[in-house]
Amino acid sequence: MDFDLSPEQEAFRRVVRDFADEVVRPRAEEMDERAELPMDIVKQMGELGLFGLPFPEEYGGQGSDFLTLCLAIEELARVDSSIAITLEAAVGLGANPIHRFGTQAQKERWLVPMCRGEILGAFGLTEPDGGSDAGATRTTAVLEDGQWVINGSKAFITNAGTPITALVTVTAVTGKEAGGHKEISTIIVPTDTPGYQAAKAYRKIGWHASDTRELSFNDCRVPEENLLGEVGAGYKQFLQTLDDGRIAIAALAVGLAQGCLDESVRYAKERHAFGRPIGAFQGLQFKIADMRVGVELARLAVYRAAWLQMQGRPFKAEASIAKLYATEMAVTAARDAVQVFGGYGYIEESPVARYYRDAKVLEIGEGTSEIQRLLIARDLGLPGTDL
Ligand SMILES: Cc1cc2nc3c(=O)[nH]c(=O)nc-3n(C[C@H](O)[C@H](O)[C@H](O)COP(=O)(O)OP(=O)(O)OC[C@H]3O[C@@H](n4cnc5c(N)ncnc54)[C@H](O)[C@@H]3O)c2cc1C
Repeated sequence: MDFDLSPEQEAFRRVVRDFADEVVRPRAEEMDERAELPMDIVKQMGELGLFGLPFPEEYGGQGSDFLTLCLAIEELARVDSSIAITLEAAVGLGANPIHRFGTQAQKERWLVPMCRGEILGAFGLTEPDGGSDAGATRTTAVLEDGQWVINGSKAFITNAGTPITALVTVTAVTGKEAGGHKEISTIIVPTDTPGYQAAKAYRKIGWHASDTRELSFNDCRVPEENLLGEVGAGYKQFLQTLDDGRIAIAALAVGLAQGCLDESVRYAKERHAFGRPIGAFQGLQFKIADMRVGVELARLAVYRAAWLQMQGRPFKAEASIAKLYATEMAVTAARDAVQVFGGYGYIEESPVARYYRDAKVLEIGEGTSEIQRLLIARDLGLPGTDL
């Protein structure tokens, strides 16, 4: 057993930590207030190679590994969750399906510029009528004269409306399977396709600078070759995409919780009450010690799940365990960090106020905590519905 990161992983973590501290941290409060993704920071992330981290060099990627991507997401989230989720969604949801399931031509057209950070891709699975029950997809795609004609809508889609968003990969019903189940396929929709529209960005509780929108498709026509993989493969494809994504979201949660821990330790040493630093009170020491335990255990769960993924071994249950534990731990850590800060914790100028708002969505996106528990129970052989 070896719990050490490789020298390359450690070195890259250092690079991203410096970038997060020097470039992102000074802008985090302003980005949150303006609720706008800063494209100059996205450009610098592209130059650092972040968007191509786990992809082969032949497609403009860094040829690095999945754990290195998780480390980068963790380091960014330690400082700012909006920037971290922008990377997570761009790589995990935007580029990953094209890399895994795309043709050579699709990879050359879309993956290469995505790896360089020149364009962003989004992943449209959730619909206004349902996210957890993804099989209930209503969006349809009908093949007509060599084109898919798409109608429907998608909800809560990350990175869908940035100035450099060039494509959205959407799931759509393309027919019925033999057993009567919906046949779901995945289709690439370039954002300049007539009939495609991204609505105004949502006003969210947190992740303010991350771009999230509802999308509509009205007789949106794309070439037949924009199908990703095979007809009817959509269900399997998004489940696989989400397995990787859950580990990456768990890494984001670890980063956010580490940020809460760093801030809490700093503040507990500086702030005085009753003539002593508040960190001298056992009541706060226990909170901070628990925070550290949570961060360390979640980190182990994330790295192990990422390691299994990299070995090509089954990791579905481990991804759910890491996602469930890390995200619930992060919500608790953020709540406790606000408590350590007292009144200042409730004021927007303190970073922990932002961490508190940013944490909650981690228990919702890429499969809610309830869905993770169902998946973990399923892995134990307990009966249940199709997920
Ligand atoms: C900021 C943000 C960004 C997002 N980005 C994307 C994106 O890029 N692409 C994308 O496709 N989606 C995205 N999502 C959508 C997200 O994945 C869904 O919101 C999530 O999967 C939950 O789906 P829902 O909102 O429809 O909730 P619902 O499925 O309606 O669930 C409502 C509640 O019911 C519970 N529930 C549902 N079914 C069960 C069950 N069987 N057992 C027990 N409890 C159950 C849920 O856990 C939840 O508590 C994003 C969401 C947010 C908020």
